[in-house]
Amino acid sequence: MLVLGIESSCDETGVALYDTEQGLLAHQLHTQMAMHAEYGGVVPELASRDHIRRAIPLTEACLAEAGKQLADLDAVAYTQGPGLGGALLVGASIANALAFGLGIPVVGVHHLEGHLLSPLLAEPKPAFPFVALLVSGGHTQLMAVRGVGDYDVLGETLDDAAGEAFDKTAKLLGLDYPGGPTLSRLAESGDPARFSLPRPMLKSDDLDMSFSGLKTAVLTLVRHQEAEHGSIDPQTRNDICRAFQDAIVDVLVGKSLKALKQANMARLVVAGGVGANKQLRAALDALAAKGRFEVFYPPLALCTDNGAMIAYAGAMRLKYAQPAGGYSVKPRWDLGSLPAA
Ligand code: ATP
Ligand code: MG
Ligand code: FE
Repeated sequence: MLVLGIESSCDETGVALYDTEQGLLAHQLHTQMAMHAEYGGVVPELASRDHIRRAIPLTEACLAEAGKQLADLDAVAYTQGPGLGGALLVGASIANALAFGLGIPVVGVHHLEGHLLSPLLAEPKPAFPFVALLVSGGHTQLMAVRGVGDYDVLGETLDDAAGEAFDKTAKLLGLDYPGGPTLSRLAESGDPARFSLPRPMLKSDDLDMSFSGLKTAVLTLVRHQEAEHGSIDPQTRNDICRAFQDAIVDVLVGKSLKALKQANMARLVVAGGVGANKQLRAALDALAAKGRFEVFYPPLALCTDNGAMIAYAGAMRLKYAQPAGGYSVKPRWDLGSLPAA
């Protein structure tokens, strides 16, 4: 079964072709980051217009990359939500028009289910059940995943998402939008011994997290340094980046271990943009090497938004579970409300 996947929930237009026998055949992406950088954040109207410009050429590029034609498609999957309403409507319209024209099924995919299942696009892939640490720009959740559609939230952030904390902290350090990946790169040259920041809720009994206080702690540190030295020199900035990253990684790792224990599972899956973070991966890999659990990640290029995870989740829904169809979008959509396999 050959599935075309279209992602347009935010500022990336992603299109991909996934074949249930042969795997991922093609994957094309256009990121609007540079366009939104000037405004310091995503401008929804500009995002929708750009998806309109990009989606068809990217679809054609995918078909060419895979040596396939529209007539070869068996289904079209698109991100139905959550996300920006106008942006979602672009993907929904194109997917529905294509499916209607070709007389094939259309599947509305939950964006977070896409992220959640994306580690299954890597080799070796994790078997069910597993604990998923979903760390993206808009969400930070620990979930018990027992199969396609069978998700229990074990804990989540009470305020900012991890990616959001990276981006907001980067902004207050004067780094260009979106600063998460830049902050992480600068942290590599930072001295871990110079500053120490709090580990919010690390010791709490539950699996919930909180990252907005960490951002405020960085702000206080920056003000203190500026008052003392007049400005922040590059090494000091790198040292602050390192202290921030150490704190966030400690919390994510600590909560993940607690979740594995609580769910009595031995496989951890990391998904979402922050899953690309090298220090987080190194910390989890080091613990996994001791043999108590296994850890799995999506391919690096598929951590942030992409069409491949949507094509894959669409294919899994068609194969194992009740797919949501129809021409509608759900800017807000609870993952727990999805039907299980
Ligand atoms: P959601 O999926 O919750 O709707 P989103 O689609 O915006 O949100 P993703 O595309 O999964 O989120 O991830 C983007 C986020 O990942 C951004 O906040 C970005 O800063 C962060 N990110 C990407 N790479 C890294 C990295 N190497 N280190 C830390 N954060 C990173
Ligand atoms: Mg994005
Ligand atoms: Fe996302």
